[in-house]
Amino acid sequence: MEEKSEVLMRELIFNHGFVELVDVLGSDQSIVNAARTSYDKGTKKVSSTRQLMRYLLRHNHSGPFEFGVCVFRIRCPLFVARQWFRHRTASYNEISLRYSEAQEEFYIPHHEWITTQDRRNRQARTQNEIDNAQRIQKMLQDDANLLLEHYNYYLDTGVAREIARINLPLSLYTTFAFKMDIRNLLHFLTLRTDPHAQFEIRQYALIMEKMVEKYFPLVIEAWRDYQKNALNFSKPELIILKEILQENLDIKKKVHDYIEKNQNSIRLAKLEQVEFMDKIRLLLDEELDLNYLGKGNQ
Ligand SMILES: Cc1cc2nc3c(=O)[nH]c(=O)nc-3n(C[C@H](O)[C@H](O)[C@H](O)COP(=O)(O)OP(=O)(O)OC[C@H]3O[C@@H](n4cnc5c(N)ncnc54)[C@H](O)[C@@H]3O)c2cc1C
Repeated sequence: MEEKSEVLMRELIFNHGFVELVDVLGSDQSIVNAARTSYDKGTKKVSSTRQLMRYLLRHNHSGPFEFGVCVFRIRCPLFVARQWFRHRTASYNEISLRYSEAQEEFYIPHHEWITTQDRRNRQARTQNEIDNAQRIQKMLQDDANLLLEHYNYYLDTGVAREIARINLPLSLYTTFAFKMDIRNLLHFLTLRTDPHAQFEIRQYALIMEKMVEKYFPLVIEAWRDYQKNALNFSKPELIILKEILQENLDIKKKVHDYIEKNQNSIRLAKLEQVEFMDKIRLLLDEELDLNYLGKGNQ
């Protein structure tokens, strides 16, 4: 009897795609346990687990995040898979068109997604639908159908599958298994949920983000706060900011007073408040008081 593999979560995407979460190893707790290098599960309060998780992510203590793993099964167009497979820190296994025959499934974008070339970002498209989008959509479908017809003809005349497939388009769907630890998965999600990533792979990554959140809620919360929705400034940008902030002499006091006044509404733990004030001091070229270092595992 054929064994049916279990699927923890499944979401359909585009005309023939899907994201399936098929296996999960570990949890928020196992990541934090790895950081504590102990396995005394249940002896710490949830709040301290959350704080340690946030500390780890904030300070790029990335090793413990390798103690969680997710396995997905993905069905996506070949052009999405090509971008996906650049992420080398995953394990993959993909359907073989040497072994099986291609299915009649091509990605045909919604006409609203057939937009013009972005002039500023040469790698991107705009959100402006092109005038004849519906006609182009039909041409994409016709082209795919023609290539598929030829493919089937090659197979019917006895051409080997590995040769018959060579002209199939990038819009053809492929299926693969994808395994990644949470450390590298966060990196994948950072790059592929970013608006700079191509729209199609971004939709896959956004579904995966939701699925990972279900099993690793504290990881995703911390990642959103310290990576996904955080900003890095370059040195030249900081020089500009420093000059402007240094003119505003009471900036340190203003930030301090704001924190004091809004203790209940700001989402900064005590240690983060100290770290934030240190960033302000750095912007003002002041010496840092590093006494709090080492008190991080709270
Ligand atoms: C918006 C966008 C545009 C892109 N455009 C292009 C493009 O035009 N052309 C193109 O070729 N690619 C392009 N890429 C792919 C990109 O260059 C990366 O290959 C891809 O995002 C995988 O990232 P990664 O290497 O960090 O991930 P992974 O391969 O998962 O690696 C994760 C981390 O492990 C480490 N690592 C892995 N392998 C090595 C190694 N061999 N040596 C040292 N450290 C290693 C690195 O720290 C790396 O960041 C693009 C990606 C994005 C998000």
